[in-house]
Amino acid sequence: MNELDSEAMAGAMSELGYDTAASEEDADVIILNTCTVRDLAEKKALGKIGALKKLKDANRKLVIGVAGCLAQQRGEQLLKRFRHLDFVVGTREIDKIPELVAEAMTRRRQMASLCPRRKIVEPTAYKRLHDVKAFVYVMRGCENFCSYCIVPYVRGPETSRPSSEITDEIKKLADGGYREVCLLGQNVNSYGKGLREKIDFAGLLDKINKINGIERIRFMTSHPKDISDRLIKAVASLDKVCESIHFPLQSGSDKILKLMNRGYTYSDYMEIVGKLKKAVKDIAVSTDIIVGFPGESEEDFRKTAKAFNEIEFSNSFIFKYSPRGGTKAAGLDDDVPLKTKLERNRELLTLQEEISLRKNKEFVGKKLEVLIESPGKKDKNLFTGRTRQNIIALFKPGDFKKGDVAGFIPSSATPAVLSGKLADK
Ligand code: SAH
Ligand code: SF4
Repeated sequence: MNELDSEAMAGAMSELGYDTAASEEDADVIILNTCTVRDLAEKKALGKIGALKKLKDANRKLVIGVAGCLAQQRGEQLLKRFRHLDFVVGTREIDKIPELVAEAMTRRRQMASLCPRRKIVEPTAYKRLHDVKAFVYVMRGCENFCSYCIVPYVRGPETSRPSSEITDEIKKLADGGYREVCLLGQNVNSYGKGLREKIDFAGLLDKINKINGIERIRFMTSHPKDISDRLIKAVASLDKVCESIHFPLQSGSDKILKLMNRGYTYSDYMEIVGKLKKAVKDIAVSTDIIVGFPGESEEDFRKTAKAFNEIEFSNSFIFKYSPRGGTKAAGLDDDVPLKTKLERNRELLTLQEEISLRKNKEFVGKKLEVLIESPGKKDKNLFTGRTRQNIIALFKPGDFKKGDVAGFIPSSATPAVLSGKLADK
């Protein structure tokens, strides 16, 4: 989401006539897009804001703004602490950035634009980082209030975009050569709530599936408590919807899930995974896990490790619990020592590597499909792409080019990459 927001910020600035600078030293304007989901992200942002002071000292005309979740949460404090900042702007006000920049250019005073519930004005331009695949917001905000999570406080209430607005945006992307869209929302399964039209996420997928030129549809994130049979059916039946789903479990222990206010048990989760695996051949299930949540005993953690072996996630993002001021869990004793959090994190990472390697090896010799994205970072003769299961593929492009969808036969596998040859689709 931050990546998409940054693309919108750059888009808004390019409409004002600005282009990307070669370096920070070269820039007339620096906007820092921040995250505050965990303490580490917050610390990094604070460190970076502090470090920008020397650029401001060297060039008084430089305009520095802070955007994103940290700005939304602590904007006024940031202005007081860092006198070299010109403005802070909230998560629902990206469209205001050009105005703030123009104002900062003419008058030296600190400004804050931080309305947390404002109606979002859709960006009129994005400066995209990729040219084959694009992120598209379908909804913003979250009202789930998982006990550990800052997002509902910094991203505001759930707001879905009308389906015609989304399909128009995707049609334009298709005309511009984009082949894959990843639909974004904190909980895409609650798409449609509050809209005048009667539509749910499965209905939206159906509409997008009909757009010519788009070859692949992905989406993030599906909250387990809201996944519907209609959605499972849509993933199974719509040809462009890829066989991969990001489906955050967070913990394998019912006691911890309850403390997290997730609204499902491990067996509810397993039931849905069972349905998904039955309905969609070769579906890849990826997940998010938090280790060291308050009260997580060794026994609770063992349940999470067991879940890895039972479900065999294709990929997982494992986080050490990080208390966030203002959330409900911040009132609980952060009683799992850092050392234990690190050990649990490491154990799950190792387990995931073994599982990913085992699963990737099963693909060797089989014909898959890749969307060709770009030359590889290390060897420019090799190109990268993704399989429908979202695994990175590495191959020589031959007669194929960026944006093509081709057959792909892996000949070797690592936990993260499949290497092989392209073939006709
Ligand atoms: N809306 C998504 C997640 C958004 S935040 C969902 O509900 O799944 C991305 C991930 O960050 C979460 O899934 C969670 O695993 C992690 N996370 C959020 N708050 C955290 C915290 N306080 N400490 C550690 N990890 C956290
Ligand atoms: Fe945070 Fe839960 Fe909302 Fe995801 S669903 S953004 S974890 S509150």
